[in-house]
Amino acid sequence: MSHEQEGVIKYQLKHHLESLSDDYSITAINAWRTLMYRLQLIGQDDARYEGYGFGNISQRIEFNSEQFMISGTQTGHIPVLAIDNYCLVTSATPELNQIHATGLCKPSSEALTHASVYLQDKKIQAVIHAHCPEIWRNTRKLKLSHTTKSVAYGTPEMAIAVNQLLQGESWQQASIFTLLGHEDGVIAFGENLSQAANVLIEKLSLAVAIEQG
Ligand SMILES: [Zn+2]
Repeated sequence: MSHEQEGVIKYQLKHHLESLSDDYSITAINAWRTLMYRLQLIGQDDARYEGYGFGNISQRIEFNSEQFMISGTQTGHIPVLAIDNYCLVTSATPELNQIHATGLCKPSSEALTHASVYLQDKKIQAVIHAHCPEIWRNTRKLKLSHTTKSVAYGTPEMAIAVNQLLQGESWQQASIFTLLGHEDGVIAFGENLSQAANVLIEKLSLAVAIEQG
């Protein structure tokens, strides 16, 4: 199976190359991003995906805001990010395949998928896109929701698929799904970063338990 290139931005991006104001705190998102990196759910590895960086993390800037902070593209190799490695998505229109963003870094190639998750419910405040082989290959045994093999990452089709997936069920009960058309791709989300990270780690432990017998 050939792997689609990570890091290739497929949406139309209007990017303002400008430093983010110190008013934006990355303290919480950056701590969780460091943990995700340590678990290699976000990272970059010559042996995985032809050496492309993988995974990304985002957080709404305020409860009622449509804007969210997201880790930048091509940052997977960096153990601890700085504010210049983040980007603020100021508006996102998945059905038009459009993103407006500000920052010294461009948003992750999967920012549009994050945007479609946020659009489901104001209560969703954080989204993590991880690459986790154990969870992904045990999608059925773990009875996880998933998008189908024919839906590629970062496309308007993915936005529609996410919409259908999350509307069809109570997301509070299963705030995680896998992307079967995107090798090892998993999306977890929640009312805060801790909730999103915890559902991911819990499913990882269950997947490891299955594989260890
Ligand atoms: Zn990915």
